Amino acid sequence: MADTPTAPVVVIGLGRFGTALAVELDRRGTEVLAIDGNPAVVQKLAGRLPHVVTADSTDAEALHQLDITAFHRAVVAIGTDIQASILTTALLSDLGIRDIWAKAVNAQHAGILSRVGAHHVVFPENDMGERVAHLLSGRILDYVEVDADFAVIKTTPPRDVVGVPLRESRLRSRWGVTVVAVKPQAPAPGAPRGFTYATPDTVLAYGDIVLVVGAIDKVERFAETD
Ligand code: ATP
Repeated sequence: MADTPTAPVVVIGLGRFGTALAVELDRRGTEVLAIDGNPAVVQKLAGRLPHVVTADSTDAEALHQLDITAFHRAVVAIGTDIQASILTTALLSDLGIRDIWAKAVNAQHAGILSRVGAHHVVFPENDMGERVAHLLSGRILDYVEVDADFAVIKTTPPRDVVGVPLRESRLRSRWGVTVVAVKPQAPAPGAPRGFTYATPDTVLAYGDIVLVVGAIDKVERFAETD
């Protein structure tokens, strides 16, 4: 199996997070093997997912019977039962699964998951809390953290960068950010109504919507300045 974006994924633990993830992957055309230790959970999802099975993911023999090593990508979505989450992640790592994602409920849990072999650790509650905080403050209309210190935001520009071509507004040297796309508030007749790529000649107007990338503190400052 190649590691393409549509390569099959095994999702273990079908609480709210694991279920939403498995259903969305399936909807997007990715083959998903969904596993939960609770038969009632599996039964409830049988109509929504094509491959959903009952198994204890801390049992190496059960994983072997499911031919888990045929999958190169796995998500451990068990949260509350930290011991099961860690054991499952360690087993998947021992089996050589190449891309293991694991859900953590706190920083200590996250650290252990990384040490036992998780390649990516996510904190759904924390991540969503941070995102909503950004959406509630300043003029940030949307916010995606793409790395520990880097984000893409949707916002409106401060007054002092409007009315001049982007090449003259010295956005990188003064603000440390890059405007990558613009959606005009009042498009000129015949001009596109949605987002278009920004160029050095683009002139922003107050109230336009812009997609901006940069270090988190820089994009926040850009969005908080009127
Ligand atoms: P969410 O917040 O996403 O609803 P949660 O953090 O409360 O989930 P848990 O309830 O701990 O997560 O686990 C999610 C699912 O994982 C449960 O349906 C549970 O049955 C399953 N699960 C827990 N341990 C195992 C295991 N060893 N093998 C397989 N499934 C397991």
